[in-house]
Amino acid sequence: MEIYDIAVIGAGPAGCMAAIRGAQLGKNVILLERNNKIGRKLLLTGNGRCNLTNTATLEVFLEKFGRTGSFYRDVFGEFSNQDLMDFFKSHDLELKEEDEGRVFPITEKSKSVVDVLGKVLDEYGVKILYNYRLEHLHKRPKIFKLSSTKNQLITAYNVIIATGGASYKFTGSTGDGFTFAELLGHHITELKPGGVPLLVGEEWVRGLKGVTLDNVGLNIGYGGKIRPLPRGNLLFTHFGISGPVILDMSHIIVEIMDEHGDLKLYIDFKPEIKEKALGVRLMEDFQNHSKKSLRNYLKNHLPQSTIDPILKTISLDPQKKLNQITKKERLQLQETLKALPLTITGHLPLDKALVTCGGVSKKQINPQTMESKLVKKLYFAGEIIEGCGRRGGYNLQQAFSTGYVAGNSASKNNKE
Ligand SMILES: Cc1cc2nc3c(=O)[nH]c(=O)nc-3n(C[C@H](O)[C@H](O)[C@H](O)COP(=O)(O)OP(=O)(O)OC[C@H]3O[C@@H](n4cnc5c(N)ncnc54)[C@H](O)[C@@H]3O)c2cc1C
Repeated sequence: MEIYDIAVIGAGPAGCMAAIRGAQLGKNVILLERNNKIGRKLLLTGNGRCNLTNTATLEVFLEKFGRTGSFYRDVFGEFSNQDLMDFFKSHDLELKEEDEGRVFPITEKSKSVVDVLGKVLDEYGVKILYNYRLEHLHKRPKIFKLSSTKNQLITAYNVIIATGGASYKFTGSTGDGFTFAELLGHHITELKPGGVPLLVGEEWVRGLKGVTLDNVGLNIGYGGKIRPLPRGNLLFTHFGISGPVILDMSHIIVEIMDEHGDLKLYIDFKPEIKEKALGVRLMEDFQNHSKKSLRNYLKNHLPQSTIDPILKTISLDPQKKLNQITKKERLQLQETLKALPLTITGHLPLDKALVTCGGVSKKQINPQTMESKLVKKLYFAGEIIEGCGRRGGYNLQQAFSTGYVAGNSASKNNKE
């Protein structure tokens, strides 16, 4: 029976890059994928446009992975964002940079990225077995034995597990790799959602489904403390809130909720001015435009569709003229514009998260090679590794970089 130099499990970005790198170095590589095509989740990324990396510096990259960031210093050094961009450009896919350094294919189609990976895998002669869902992975003294549901046995000197996380399961990433890793003695840290929409208790929010708040300030209140979050765009949904700033900050919010239960999120519609200055402005405006209705006036401060529901939360009649508003009501309005409270009661399940935070403990992986510290010639790449990055192309770069390094290191191993 043929013994492959490297068997890669999972044909997402991490697995494809690992297989490509191994084959580039002349190794006999087999790539096992449970779907009938590569990169099923990759196709969905960036709303179908694939934000494949970011032009940020290495230090920013590490920051975007929070506490697990320093683990990636060597990996991002060995295969950087520039290396990834060069890889795609050298295979005739032009890229473009958008705001906040986010990089997309010029075609604005994830399919172009998947197509390049498919073409290069083919070019280097990587054998791909589709519809092969790995079920068992055993380590023998010199080789690994792999078998699928159909008991198709494969043997390899090195194995790279790149099966992804456990969200958007319909794409094939059902968390199988965690089981293989665990059975081989690895610790799996708690699987938590990263980039997940939040549930809100207040009923009136549901009526605002689809409305976006641009560049609002946010503060979380819990256990008597207030913690500021970065500003950003927030989207109301039929169950609560989502949008870039929420998806970016959800891991922090979920962590606090795990400890403290329900919490308050305060929306600041006027983050650019202090509450006192807003108070003065409201007072002057109320004097200068005394005949205007409150609803009409608030168009300067709030998206139109939010005015009535927000005024309802403080029992203010939108039709009231500004000169009929009492001082107490004006102060109440001022407070609401600076800190509209929402009760966060939970989050959507892990399956609806953009990424899975948690996974194979990084303490058990060599950060220079991606090799397991427990099982020789076993490697991990991509989302299966503990921790997750922020939105902005950081997670895909992590998948490509760890894939490259795992493929590289596995290729340097002797067969014995
Ligand atoms: C909707 C959405 C949008 C996103 N947008 C972006 C973005 O724009 N930019 C960004 O940086 N990140 C984005 N992400 C995150 C990004 O998609 C992931 O970080 C990335 O796909 C992880 O790559 P991976 O190769 O580790 O795993 P995956 O892409 O999940 O690939 C794992 C592969 O392993 C296969 N597999 C699993 N189990 C088995 C088994 N037992 N046998 C054989 N095969 C198996 C799966 O079928 C799958 O093909 C997005 C995620 C989602 C859900």
